[in-house]
Amino acid sequence: MSFVTRFAPSPTGLLHLGHAYSAMLAHDAARAAGGKFLLRIEDIDTTRCRPEFESAIYEDLSWLGLSWDNSVRRQSDHFADYAGAIETLRALGVVYRCFLTRREISEQSLSAPHGEGEGADGVVYKGPAHPMSADEEQARLTRGEAYAWRLSIRYSQDLLGEDFARLDFVEQRNGSDNEHIAARPELLGDVILGRKDTLASYHIAVVHDDALQGVTHVIRGEDLRASTHVHVLLQKLLNLPTPTYCHHKLLTGHDGKRYAKRDKSLTLAALREAGVSPADIRTRIGLPA
Ligand code: GLU
Repeated sequence: MSFVTRFAPSPTGLLHLGHAYSAMLAHDAARAAGGKFLLRIEDIDTTRCRPEFESAIYEDLSWLGLSWDNSVRRQSDHFADYAGAIETLRALGVVYRCFLTRREISEQSLSAPHGEGEGADGVVYKGPAHPMSADEEQARLTRGEAYAWRLSIRYSQDLLGEDFARLDFVEQRNGSDNEHIAARPELLGDVILGRKDTLASYHIAVVHDDALQGVTHVIRGEDLRASTHVHVLLQKLLNLPTPTYCHHKLLTGHDGKRYAKRDKSLTLAALREAGVSPADIRTRIGLPA
């Protein structure tokens, strides 16, 4: 069986120990399986991503001793692909234009339960009570109002019928035990797939690229588990295969908090500067040498 996995960082800051853990787990799994380890730069948020952080990713991973197969895919070079995927979903009638501002959405969503349902977009938007009339939509477009393309859970349910309830994915734990998990895309509500100006969101780009690159195993942090439920729905709608998922634990510091890009002292660059070796990093994050 072929095995293709990837590490897909966003160049919005320097990589830290948590990234090293994720990258090494994926790399080691690919090498153990005689498969491929791909590197993808997820830089669709052009306001937050910087070229110097992309260069630092190559430097840090090489220093860790990781090598990747094939050429690197940089998402900002492929906006047309993601727009095409949204177009396919539009043709299916499962996306709609949402003109609400982020603020209006968070006000509406204040009563939404926190925790599992909170996704990459921060808040859960359950969708409009009624679809917007064609006249109102046209008037807003004529006025040049900003909008986001959102995936409608309700329309997807209508389209897929019983298949919606049957959506599921395989979660691999400890490298061996497989568990079938029922997908509940409604956890994240109607997620954003693209905006009038920024053409693609994380959800559409990641699903498109994992399929395009033939990824069979997605190894990533458990903070993205809720997103996986939406990705499984997108895969079904776009007729793409669902990879096996492994959501690993998030490393935490002495204070019990997970590492974040703001912890400057724990960036790989700072640790390297301080004389820490790649072997020390492996030991520190609990991976075999
Ligand atoms: N680009 C995402 C991040 O930086 C990871 C996406 C993924 O592995 O699916 O956290």
